[in-house]
Amino acid sequence: MNRTRFRLLVFFMSLSLIGIILVQLYWVNLSLKNSEDQFAYQIHKILIQVSERVKTHSEDKLAQLKKANIGLDESEIQKKDSVDLWLTKDFIDGLIVEELEKEHVDVDFEFAVYKNQQPTDIKSDNFKHIEYNYEDYPLIDIDGTRFALILSFPKKEVFLFRSILNITLLSIIFTMIIIIAYVSALNQLIKQKQISEIKTDFINNMTHEFKTPIATINLALDAIKNPKIFSDSEKVQRYLQMIRDENKRMHAQVENVLQISKLDKRELDITKDQADIHDVLEEAIEHVHLIIEAREGVLTRHFDAQRTTALLNDVHFTNVLVNILDNAIKYSPDEPVIDIYTENVKDFILIKIKDNGMGMSKVTQKRIFEKFYREPTGDIHNVKGHGLGLAYVKRIIEDHNCHIYVESEKGKGSTFIIKMPLIN
Ligand code: ADP
Repeated sequence: MNRTRFRLLVFFMSLSLIGIILVQLYWVNLSLKNSEDQFAYQIHKILIQVSERVKTHSEDKLAQLKKANIGLDESEIQKKDSVDLWLTKDFIDGLIVEELEKEHVDVDFEFAVYKNQQPTDIKSDNFKHIEYNYEDYPLIDIDGTRFALILSFPKKEVFLFRSILNITLLSIIFTMIIIIAYVSALNQLIKQKQISEIKTDFINNMTHEFKTPIATINLALDAIKNPKIFSDSEKVQRYLQMIRDENKRMHAQVENVLQISKLDKRELDITKDQADIHDVLEEAIEHVHLIIEAREGVLTRHFDAQRTTALLNDVHFTNVLVNILDNAIKYSPDEPVIDIYTENVKDFILIKIKDNGMGMSKVTQKRIFEKFYREPTGDIHNVKGHGLGLAYVKRIIEDHNCHIYVESEKGKGSTFIIKMPLIN
């Protein structure tokens, strides 16, 4: 996939994800508004019912009062603002509860009977007077005096939100699933893209590395074919040696690749025997000491471990140490200064291989054990490699139940630490 297509894909994926989230928000908002409208409608209906019943009840009570007080001063009865003469708080409370139940609305409420836009004594304990739009409430006309029943719901928001809670939760869960799937798909896509780039690089590198020996071998063969040189056995020997060397280089290269593909298929045959770590270290040092000498470097041993017997595969473990030492030399731009430390910690032996080379950034440190990974910038490309050495190291180290870490600082050097269990 080319860069533009990839970016377009990511752009459209992100766009649709944002779109889906916005649509979800819109729906949740709409549901909330619908619930609010429905609630308002139900409450209005309840108010009408209750007001109607209050009116009927009040009129009956008033008639009874009038009857019982025949001859009583009319103006006493006319004092209709003393509503508590014929209404009680509990009576209204009961009516409201009844009507709310009929509508299946389970919400806490406060109420008050108003006259002249002011609450009368008939009100619930926690009723708070605020400015009400009197017109929104049905008026109760009793014998020419107008009252209104005001209902308020202190926990209305909670009630409304509860009514859409299930759908909101589902919506959040599905949106989270989409986000997680999106992020991991994107991650996978980027990883795949990186791997494919790295593989292309690797193939280019390999081809390049085969091209030189093949060209050299061709030139040497042409030279040998030349009758003048053919008769000079010393020159023929030199060209033959060149061919042999180039051939060896190609063979080593092929071996390298084969080993890695075996690593992939988990086909490595790793049998382990008891061995002395210091001996294995010496064997590895033997492999690299000529290169260190040629680079005018120094390697110092600080073998402080007293207990050094571990279970290991001699060939693979030596390869591991050689790979790390090779890197320490390769990635030291000046004369390599290498220190090897061993020490015992509990039932383990720690092997530390320290160099004074170019070091690496924190990001690089995290990725060096990945297959094909090479630090992408800097002077590193002057150093040949395929980014496979440490992937092999990691695989072998894990097979030996060991751990490997790196401590490094850009420009200062690196230390590779292997923690290996000992055997008694
Ligand atoms: P290669 O050396 O073939 O590139 P490796 O797997 O051996 O592959 O190493 C991976 C990368 O880790 C190297 O390309 C380099 O960036 C970094 N690296 C490894 N060892 C060192 C070291 N001693 N100092 C600095 N960088 C290192």
